[in-house]
Amino acid sequence: MDLIYRIRCAVARLMYGRNGVDRLCWALVLAQFILSVLSGFIRPAAVRIALRLLGFVLLVLAIRRIFSRDVARRRAENAKFLYWCGPRCAALRDMSYRFADKTHKYVKCSCGVWCRVPRGVGTVELKCPKCGESKIVKT
Ligand SMILES: [Zn+2]
Repeated sequence: MDLIYRIRCAVARLMYGRNGVDRLCWALVLAQFILSVLSGFIRPAAVRIALRLLGFVLLVLAIRRIFSRDVARRRAENAKFLYWCGPRCAALRDMSYRFADKTHKYVKCSCGVWCRVPRGVGTVELKCPKCGESKIVKT
């Protein structure tokens, strides 16, 4: 107990005033992991080495961000990343939700809105709630 407490205090002292782990760090580590796995399947040695080198650079960048003392700049970079990533992550989350929902069929309107129709009711006329466009849909 005493040893664990001392280790926790040492880590807390080490990380005091530093950026720590944020979403951009996790994204860099995830990208490094994907590149590492991908490099295992690639035959040409030059491409494999390049992917591993790129993954290593991403990992070094993540570690540098974690221990950086320039917190304001790291937070600004993370905010830029979240601003860029937000709509894409939401689109992926919505896509997985639509894929998991087996009781409804999702139809995309020409205006970009996803309309939900229950499955198994036959052919229905769907009217978009946003633009009012009608469409015949088989469910
Ligand atoms: Zn529409």
